[in-house]
Amino acid sequence: MSAANKVLIVGGGVAGLAVAIGLHNKGVGVEVVEKNADWSVYHVGIIVQANFVRALAQLGVGDAAVKAGFAYKGARFMSMDGQVIAELPGESAADGFPGDLGLTRPALHTVLTDKVKELGIPVRLGVTFESFNDTGDGVDVTFTDGTSGRYDLLIGCDGNYSAVRKVLWPDATPKYTGQGVWRYNVPRPAELEWSDLYIGKPGGKVGYCPLTEEEMYIFAVFEEKGNPKFAPETLADEMQKRLEGFGGQMAESAKCVTDPALVVYRPLEACIMPDPWYQGRVVLIGDSAHSATPHLGQGAAMAVEDAVVLAEEVAGKDDLAAALRAFMERRFERAKLVGTSSIQLGEWEMHPESAGNPVELTERIRVKLAEPI
Ligand SMILES: Cc1cc2nc3c(=O)[nH]c(=O)nc-3n(C[C@H](O)[C@H](O)[C@H](O)COP(=O)(O)OP(=O)(O)OC[C@H]3O[C@@H](n4cnc5c(N)ncnc54)[C@H](O)[C@@H]3O)c2cc1C
Repeated sequence: MSAANKVLIVGGGVAGLAVAIGLHNKGVGVEVVEKNADWSVYHVGIIVQANFVRALAQLGVGDAAVKAGFAYKGARFMSMDGQVIAELPGESAADGFPGDLGLTRPALHTVLTDKVKELGIPVRLGVTFESFNDTGDGVDVTFTDGTSGRYDLLIGCDGNYSAVRKVLWPDATPKYTGQGVWRYNVPRPAELEWSDLYIGKPGGKVGYCPLTEEEMYIFAVFEEKGNPKFAPETLADEMQKRLEGFGGQMAESAKCVTDPALVVYRPLEACIMPDPWYQGRVVLIGDSAHSATPHLGQGAAMAVEDAVVLAEEVAGKDDLAAALRAFMERRFERAKLVGTSSIQLGEWEMHPESAGNPVELTERIRVKLAEPI
């Protein structure tokens, strides 16, 4: 019994690879098309929590992810001068697995691509859809390599600037939230086992997170009025300005931010779609359905949880409409909570006069997300 036997996945990122693995594990035939011929990702860090580790474990890649990353003790809120304000220890959500995990984006990509290759899932690189037509009993797709195919289900996993979403909901586009994020990988001090968030500077916050035994990354999230473009050669100086004024370990690690070519700067743009994220036989998951800001470090977790739940519902029901509705019932409120709370945290950073309590909100969401999906 399965609501779909032949599934096309558009996008081979976190959500696409996770849902490919999840559906394949349940005996559903899948194909992936990925626009990027190199299939490469930025060398930046990614912070994930217990619910992400649990979802990866459900897909059979939890051990590989933990081995590729650094299981740290949890998140700490720090004052600007480096004093601990609050500790949020990472609680495990899956037996034998850690709670909080840092890993590099390429390491996560390797864990997922290795599994996809091991399972023999077909992935066509440098290829995307040219058009698709949902005829009610199937989806006819033409591809940019001149081929075509017919599928029971098309899953849009093509990220924040989704082309699949644009076909179905042309008016839904990511909006600039007012902040940008600066990231840089630096050596990890041997004794550092927490991810620290330094708050108190108007407009944003800074922090770091261990990624491996040797490496951690520094991030600075700040208000960037007017969504400016920065000349590449100025990026290290600009990031240094955001890191000014902080003490503790941050003051030491900030000295390593020297090479503009190694700074990754991204304006924050979010797009949270209303329910439903599907029309007929086409559904969106991951950032294409609900891209948020990185304030809660939950984007990748939401993408993998979407994948686990969609695979369960599609493989476990014989009616596709019922499977997609059940998927929405299990996913919508949770992903919306993460998205709206992430944006709220950024708003509070930009408007401290009306700010709530970021420690309380972050802790509340962490407890909520540890609940089973
Ligand atoms: C600055 C920043 C910091 C972040 N930090 C964190 C963090 O610390 N922790 C965390 O959990 N999350 C974080 N995230 C979010 C996380 O990276 C995303 O939520 C996650 O990658 C979403 O997975 P996805 O598969 O939906 O999209 P992506 O990972 O973006 O994958 C989309 C894939 O689709 C491909 N694609 C695009 N268009 C097409 C097309 N037309 N046809 C075919 N393929 C296509 C792309 O090449 C890509 O491979 C951060 C995001 C940003 C921007």
